[in-house]
Amino acid sequence: MGEGIVTRTLLVIGHGMVGHRLVDQLRALDTDHAWRIVIAAEEHYPAYDRVGLSSYLDGKSKSDLTLAGAGFLTDPRMDLLLGCPVVSVDRTARTAQTAHGDRISYDALVLATGSRPFVPPVPGHDLTGCFVYRTFDDLDALRAAARPGRPGVVVGGGLLGLEAANALRLLGMRPHVVETAPHLMPTQLDSGAAHVLDRHVTELGLRVHCGTATASIDAGANGEVRAVTLSDGTVLEADLVVFSAGIRPRDELADAMGLERGERGGIAVDDLCRTADERVWAIGECAAVNGRCYGLVAPGYRMAESVAHQLTGQKPEPFTSTDTSTTLKLLGVKIAAFGALRPDHGHAVEVVFAEGTDRYAKILLSEDSGDLLGGILAGDTGSWTAIRSLVGHRPPADLEQLLLP
Ligand SMILES: Cc1cc2nc3c(=O)[nH]c(=O)nc-3n(C[C@H](O)[C@H](O)[C@H](O)COP(=O)(O)OP(=O)(O)OC[C@H]3O[C@@H](n4cnc5c(N)ncnc54)[C@H](O)[C@@H]3O)c2cc1C
Repeated sequence: MGEGIVTRTLLVIGHGMVGHRLVDQLRALDTDHAWRIVIAAEEHYPAYDRVGLSSYLDGKSKSDLTLAGAGFLTDPRMDLLLGCPVVSVDRTARTAQTAHGDRISYDALVLATGSRPFVPPVPGHDLTGCFVYRTFDDLDALRAAARPGRPGVVVGGGLLGLEAANALRLLGMRPHVVETAPHLMPTQLDSGAAHVLDRHVTELGLRVHCGTATASIDAGANGEVRAVTLSDGTVLEADLVVFSAGIRPRDELADAMGLERGERGGIAVDDLCRTADERVWAIGECAAVNGRCYGLVAPGYRMAESVAHQLTGQKPEPFTSTDTSTTLKLLGVKIAAFGALRPDHGHAVEVVFAEGTDRYAKILLSEDSGDLLGGILAGDTGSWTAIRSLVGHRPPADLEQLLLP
């Protein structure tokens, strides 16, 4: 079915996790084969599991992590252009220009360009020996530079910073983690949960420096990283530095295209991921949905599914605010934050069930209804997926047993 009726071209810019989900969904829904799909991908590899990227330094190969199955790569409806970044888009002519000088025509365009790691502009941030942690290429470069037994510094003590520190550990290095906030994972955790995490990672050999900033990256005689100076005057000897100080949406095509950006960056879209141009959508980490960017994969997948529905004439689900539950996947300590993590307008009460260095459990309850709003678990606590499913409901009488079995 469908032969001879391929009439329209969808161009997807970016073949990351979310761009891939869009194409996969579209291939499934577009039973009439009404779309030809061109993907322009900056990276040299088909989409891979970036969430599982750290396992690439722990025995997994690039092909273990690929998201593109055989059927995907051989689908005649698809044209995957690897190592082919788009540098500009002419919305009037409906063409995109690649860095190689080719022009790609489209009927519909989806921007799925993700984020870039934020590198704070501290002196020395661009020395040889400074890395970021986002792509296969980043990890290959890190692996090539790592020297077992030598110290390395990770700038940023959030979720990704801890993954990067663990990566240095797996490469045999001695990792330091520098975090400006008073404790690790400040976005997700309070000090009680961070205390459990801190003790655990310290036992694993990570040296944690919180409440201090990176003042400069210092070069040795050979011009490569030799040390990191902190704002409290501490000097950490270091052979390399990994920046993991947050991400910024890759919205650079928006200006040239005359598309609006969100106040804090990102390509401005509505709750159906539509830009002001009816032929152009933005999804995933590059999109600012009603002003907000999402740095997690699950919201991006929902955006991709919504756009696939729109492209095939089906009723899409508008994107509403989403579950931003997070878990630390590595380092062998259970850390989970789910639902609302801070009292909203004072109409909530916090209940702490355990506090110490081994485990911590805190929940937030609505003062009015008594419903569970969210919580933080750290260390030897109950199954967070079971507990998370109670969000929005009155917790059962045996909640403490669930939290601390
Ligand atoms: C180490 C690590 C661990 C993570 N762990 C978690 C986790 O536990 N849970 C979670 O929810 N999320 C996690 N994330 C975040 C998750 O990976 C992202 O939310 C997800 O990858 C976003 O998908 P995306 O398609 O929007 O962006 P990306 O996956 O970044 O893909 C964007 C792609 O677009 C390409 N691109 C950019 N500009 C252009 C251009 N002009 N032309 C062509 N191509 C372009 C980029 O090169 C990239 O390949 C993690 C991320 C990292 C790095």
